[in-house]
Order: sequence, then C-alpha cells, then structure tokens
Amino acid sequence: MVIPMLRKGSCSFLWLLFILSSCQNSSNDSNIHWQTDGKEWLLHGLDLKDSRCSPLDQINTENVDSLGLLWSYDLGLKRGVEATPIVSEGIMYFTGPWSKVFAIEATTGKEVWTFDPEVPRSFGEKGCCDVVNRGVALSEGKVYVGSFDGRLIALNAENGEKIWETLTVDQSKPYTITGAPRVIKDLVIIGNGGAELGVRGYFSAYDKNTGEMRWRFYTVPGDPSQPAENKAMQNALSTWTGEWWKYGGGGTAWDAMSYDPELNLLYVGTGNGSPWDRNKRSPDGGDNLYLSSILALNPDNGELKWYYQTTPGDSWDFTATQHIMLADLEIDGKLQRVLMQAPKNGFFYVINRETGKLISAEKFTYVNWAEKIDKTSGKPVEHPLARYASANMDIAPNYDGAHNWHPMAYNTKRQLVYIPARETYSNYGKSLDWEYNTAGFGSGAGWNLAIGHDPGVPTIKDSLMSKKGKLIAWDPIAQKEAWHIDQENVWNGGVLTTLGDLVFQGTADGYIKAYHASDGSQLWQAYLGTGIMAPPVTYMIDGRQYLSVLTGWGGGYGMKNKHTPTIETGKVFTFVLGGDQKLPKPDVAQDRRPIKPKWEIYDYEANIGAGLFNKYCAVCHVSGNGSGGVAPNLAYSPHIGSPTFDKILLEGLLLPNGMPSYQGRISEEESHAIQTFIMATARVIK
Ligand code: CA
Repeated sequence: MVIPMLRKGSCSFLWLLFILSSCQNSSNDSNIHWQTDGKEWLLHGLDLKDSRCSPLDQINTENVDSLGLLWSYDLGLKRGVEATPIVSEGIMYFTGPWSKVFAIEATTGKEVWTFDPEVPRSFGEKGCCDVVNRGVALSEGKVYVGSFDGRLIALNAENGEKIWETLTVDQSKPYTITGAPRVIKDLVIIGNGGAELGVRGYFSAYDKNTGEMRWRFYTVPGDPSQPAENKAMQNALSTWTGEWWKYGGGGTAWDAMSYDPELNLLYVGTGNGSPWDRNKRSPDGGDNLYLSSILALNPDNGELKWYYQTTPGDSWDFTATQHIMLADLEIDGKLQRVLMQAPKNGFFYVINRETGKLISAEKFTYVNWAEKIDKTSGKPVEHPLARYASANMDIAPNYDGAHNWHPMAYNTKRQLVYIPARETYSNYGKSLDWEYNTAGFGSGAGWNLAIGHDPGVPTIKDSLMSKKGKLIAWDPIAQKEAWHIDQENVWNGGVLTTLGDLVFQGTADGYIKAYHASDGSQLWQAYLGTGIMAPPVTYMIDGRQYLSVLTGWGGGYGMKNKHTPTIETGKVFTFVLGGDQKLPKPDVAQDRRPIKPKWEIYDYEANIGAGLFNKYCAVCHVSGNGSGGVAPNLAYSPHIGSPTFDKILLEGLLLPNGMPSYQGRISEEESHAIQTFIMATARVIK
C-alpha cells in the first residue's frame, strides 16, 4: 500500500511553515524540523537528527551553579520512569509506569489532565525490564502512546480523551510496548519488546487519524513452510537454520527510530534473538537477519532499502535498539550524511545513512567478544571462544550493554557525542537442559549465564575495567574518546547537551548533574531523592529557560538493585536560574536484618527452590547479598515462612503492584521449596 506523499491542501500551509521555521528541508509534516529554536521540545530526540542538543544558552557554564528548583510534580507511582517529555504550547506531556499519560503546565507543574490506559497488572510479567514507558508523540492536536499491553492509543491533547485505540500485538504472546511512538507524515510507527521471552519481532505503521494499520515489517522470518511476507523476509531465510520460528526468533524493535525526510528513510534498530544462544536458536549458524541490525525503510510502504547488522548471529543480547542519531560530518575531506549508534556490543558505529555502508566502528569501552569490526565486510572479528559453545567465557560487555536505551546527546558545536555508558562483563555459558517455554526468561533458556570458569578460557580481571558507569564524550570523526567521567554506579540516566556548553545527566544515586561540555568538569548538582534513568529536557517560555527531568527508579537493572537509601514515587523536577523551592533531603537507609529460618533447611529442597527461583523470580528479585531494587531482596522479606507468602505467590495478593500470581503454575510444595531457598540465602548474607 502506498501512502500519498502530501496531504490534500497542505502545500500552502507548508510553505508558510517553511518561512516561519528555520527548516532547511522541504519536509511535509508540521512536526518535522531538521533544526529547532529549542523553545519547545516537540520530538522524542528534540529534532529530526535526534541530537538532544538544545540551542538554548540562557543557562550556561557561567551561571549554571545558580539553578534552583521551581516546581515538582508527583506521578504517584513507584516503578521505573524512562520518558522524554514533549513540551508544546506551554504544556508538558509525558508517560509514567504502566503507560499512564500526564499533561501538566510546563511553567507551574499544575496538572491539566491524566490518562490511565488501565493496563491489566497481570501483563507485568510479560516484560523483561519493568513496566516502563519512554514517552508520547504529539502531532496536530493528538497525543500518541503505546500501552504496555500492546495497544496504540490516540488522545485529544487538550483534554486527554481517547480518540482511537488499536491493538498492535497478539496478547496471548509475551509482547509489550515500552517505546515512544514516532509520527512520520500521516503515520504513527510503533514496535514492541518481548525477545527475552520468545516472540517474532516487528514494527507497524498506523494512520495517525484513524488508527488503521498501513503496513507491518517483521524483523525476522517466520515459518519457512509459509510464504515469506516480502522480499526482505525471503532474503533473510537463508541466514537461519533449525526451527527458530517455533521460539519466535526475536529481533524486537523496542526503542530507537529516526527519520531523514530528504532521503525519505525511516531508521529502526532491532533487538536480540529468542533465545539468546544462537546454538539453540539456529544450531547450524548463520547471521540470523535482521537481528541486532539498523534497518532503513521507505516509510510510505514499509519496504526495506538497506540494513546494517551490528552483531551477526547475536548470542549475547547485544541489541541494536539503541539511540540512532543523524549527523552531517566532514570525514575524509567531504561532508557525509551519517547515522551514529553505540549499541550494546561496545562499538561506536558511523554509517553512511544513504547507503548503509560502514564508515568506521571503534570500541568505546572495554570489549573482548570481538577484536575489531572489519572495514571491508562490515563484520566483527570474533574471539574464537565468544560463542560459549564449548566452554563458559567472561564476555565484555554483558547483556545490559556497554550502552543501553538511555539516550545519548550530540553537541553540534563541540562535535562530541555524550554516551551514558557502562563497563561490565558476565560469564556466559550454554544451558544444557534448554526447553522452549515462553513463561521463562530467555525463552526458557534462563540467562545463558554460567557460574564459574572453564579451565583454559581467559577470565577478565576486575582491575581491567571500572565495572561501573561512565559518561563518555566521544569524537565521532576521530573515533576516539575526548574525555570520560567514572561513575559510582552502572545505571545512570540519558543525556542532554546545550549550546550553553553544558551536558546534563541524572544518576542512579539520585542526582541531576551539569558538566562542562568541553572537558567534563562538574559545574552543578542537585539531589532529587530517588534514582534517575530518564533524559533531561530543556525549553523556553516567555524568555525564561527551564530544565526538567523525571525521576523514578526501576527498569531491568533497577528491579534488582538500588543506589539510594529508599525508592520514592516518580516525580518531575523543573529548575530555573534562581529557583528557590526546597529539594528533597537525602534519606537514611533503614537498618535491615536478614530473615531467620522458620523451618529446617534441607539442601535437596533448597536446591529445588533455587531452580524455581531462577525460573520464576530471578528476573526481578534477588535473594541473599545485594540491595534489591523496586522488587525487594527477598532474604529480608518478613513474609518468607508466613502464610502471607502463599497469598502473594499463589493468590495474587500483590498483583495491584505488578507482582504476578502463580496460581496453577507453582504448587504449595514448590512455594515451600522457594521459601526454603530464600531462607538458605539469608543465612549466608555478608
Ligand atoms: Ca534483550
């Protein structure tokens, strides 16, 4: 189906728009700007290049230390918050946990409306990484949101009333939506997540006025006994072996999308395979197109124009769903239209965005799974043991990535990309008793993470790495680091940069900080009471520049870990020069004692409990050493060994909080074994 290039009667309006705005292009949508004056924040990545570089400079290196709080707004929900707010005509639109939508006044924080899509709490367990949402799209009076249970919803921007809603997934499968929709021309584009539990990835385009589906692009081939959906799927078939389609195959497009209106190309990043281990998914090898790839499509009909696969035949959860940023860079003496990505696998890619040809790729953190990316083939030169087929191996980066979903920012004046990175590794190994199971993490494969090392396999010395967070300033032309800051914790927020020569980022331990864009020297910080994952935004109303950031701890990492004494409800904090409202005071950690065994612990029962814990609980919970996060460390839970535990586990007592009910899946005897395991872990807490 071909979508008309222009809406009827839109030409004169567009011409007016062209004159009024600083657009350099002949884009045909009122929301599409190569450049912005930065007064409003209209697109997910601020501008079409997804630069997250605001031209505003009222707040700058000279005065940033006088930033103070103007107002805050409480979302009233205590789960992860990852949204980039959209700011238009004085209203800020954003999402919170369970895909709830908020519209508040951007100058005062006064609530205008909220919309709760009422996601059934039983859907919570379908997500790998908390019930988060990364924001809305706004276009011509409508606010678009993807709900966690797979609906795409259009709301009236004035009052939050629902205009239309359409189901984008098969709800019997573990699909979720956490990403922000993007509006291109007359279309709303949305993908989904679910590759951890076993689904076939895809993204789709819907008519932005009616919600009618226009096209769908699958990212991996389906059952080869059925006709392929298109040429791209036909071409991908020969890169797969075995019976991958029975496990979904994966490749979900759960976050990054960008659009070049001059080339009329939509860029979408795709995720890991289902299951992780290629030896299981596609046992005779193959690149497994289009896993862990950047896809360029014609948005009018969803036709694939080119692809670049960052991690062929992925076995490590090295998604390429990370931020896709567009830039025009002078490389080898000529101005080139490029896209840039720092996917989980630890290489920073600069790619010709017209052709998909690799220009350069270099490691931006410690990486050992591949030596380099071969320039000619565009493919990695892998470590011979990296596929953990014959032995367990320490792999860097790990499944959380050298960079995850947290957006980067590109300072156009400094020509530096600021990457919210981390330096981590994990010990990967094959699971010997794998059986496909959509209820289990890794499509039933568990984590593909082994305990211990096999003789003769290189191990990573902790001293080689920071095993911590890193804010990296990266020169994409020279492909090298300009500077970096080591950070205490690994799960820090997305980044904003401004032409006030500043870089803003929230941290896992609850601070919003400002750095000098040139050298990373810290110029300001404020404590906001709970961990921050979301990227800050800035805007200007009536001549005054505002800085806003959403707090709210959680996400995949935050379910199990925390770095503030307590976890508070998510909030919006908005700062101005000279703001004088009170900031939260650092909380004091409560004294916690591990539980005492309530019955005799037999090793055989604890071992059974360990297996069940790993299968059902370990996606969100820890037990034993560790802080616990949004989901508590169960070795400190007063419910262990009490009748309340069975009410929670088997009857769904805490389902309203998102804790699944395992009625019919876990027996009372198994519940007893899980508790025995938890008691055993509590005994050995250091
Ligand atoms: Ca994944």
